[in-house]
Amino acid sequence: MQRIVIIGTGQGGQQMAASLRQEGFSGEILMIGDEPGLPYQRPPLSKAYMANGDAAALTLKPSGFYERSGIALHDATRVVRIDRSARQVVTQGGTRHSYDHLVLATGARNFRPPVPGIDAPGTAELRTLADAEAIRQRLATTRHAVVVGGGFIGLEFAAMARAADVEVTVVEAAPRLMARALSPQMSGHFLDLHHQMGTHVLLDAMAARVLADAQGRAAGVALADGRQIAGDLVLIATGVRPNVELAAEAGLTCDNGIVVDDGLATSDPAISALGDVAVFPGPLGAPVRLESVQAAVDHARHIARRLVGGDSTPYAAVPWFWSDQGKFKLQIAGLGHGADRAITRAEPGGPAVLLFGRGRLQAVETVNAPGVHMAARKLIGMPLADLQAHDFDLRAAAK
Ligand code: FAD
Repeated sequence: MQRIVIIGTGQGGQQMAASLRQEGFSGEILMIGDEPGLPYQRPPLSKAYMANGDAAALTLKPSGFYERSGIALHDATRVVRIDRSARQVVTQGGTRHSYDHLVLATGARNFRPPVPGIDAPGTAELRTLADAEAIRQRLATTRHAVVVGGGFIGLEFAAMARAADVEVTVVEAAPRLMARALSPQMSGHFLDLHHQMGTHVLLDAMAARVLADAQGRAAGVALADGRQIAGDLVLIATGVRPNVELAAEAGLTCDNGIVVDDGLATSDPAISALGDVAVFPGPLGAPVRLESVQAAVDHARHIARRLVGGDSTPYAAVPWFWSDQGKFKLQIAGLGHGADRAITRAEPGGPAVLLFGRGRLQAVETVNAPGVHMAARKLIGMPLADLQAHDFDLRAAAK
């Protein structure tokens, strides 16, 4: 294999290039991404970056890394087409780049719900460094932020805004916070924590319209039940949609993401996909798409081992995730979907929720308990009876 092209220069694309070299690939590597500048990490955008504005600290590797590693990086360049029969990608400027293998690391974009007024100037969203910088600059003069969406990013932002003494209201359509990814027990715990931080949280609350002031700028949110919440910053944090268009137009199988097999190859064996955009055979037997640094990084490493070393073992990394909300580090090992039993243990940092499915440990949610989280990563899949023998003390069970 002579030339590997990677579309997307985010967390997964960067790791892909680095892992190819680590595995000993000596051919050409070309990374093409539509954002300007060096690849950077997104997690701090809703956390430390809001407070410190330190863009340099986000960079994944310095420019010298790409030069030394012989990795060509084309930033601010959008790929508009994949020509599979010619094995070429086409950029917006019309340049064609040939590939022997192509990796799609196109990530996801924010979902904008069809709420009237959402396009008013002054509504904000948070995905890129540019988004974060725009919000950070406004935060100093913001009095009341209305956050539409009580998921990880909305709540991380809410905690940062509270720390900056901004009044915050979170509007969440579901009956609990972070409902898509968390157990009801841990959702309830974080609701208490956000109340303690002074955040107003409205559950079962459907945003029906973004309000505008006399100049037409976003000035709050009207709910479906008639309530109106005035605010001078409206953050839309209602989840993401995978960037599948390139793949779909090229005829690759897509279903809520680009569908890949257990080696992370798409329906065209010359093309792999990873990270936020990839739907892969998940640990619970059903296809899954994960939005996490862990998935992007582990996918990239797996593809590199397959392409360079011929490793044909199926991808089987244990999923894990973290979210920092104020002083509280939420960590999740495994996937809790469909769990049929929850056991809650008190740990010094807060509750640890152990989720079981069919008698086996499926996921563990912890707060400010990194030791328990690390133990949990080793124990996913363990029979309930074995953990019971350790009184559900995960650190003891992992020894
Ligand atoms: P991305 O990093 O999004 O990169 C995809 C890149 O591809 C983007 O630059 C995109 O613009 C580019 N692209 C798309 N289409 C094209 C095209 N046609 N041509 C060229 N380029 C294209 N995860 C955690 O595990 N923990 C956290 O605490 C956490 N916090 C987060 C906070 C924020 C604010 C955000 C936005 C995300 C957070 N995440 C967190 C999620 C994590 O950052 C993502 O899961 C990860 O970045 C996914 O990597 P990726 O390479 O798949 O996609």
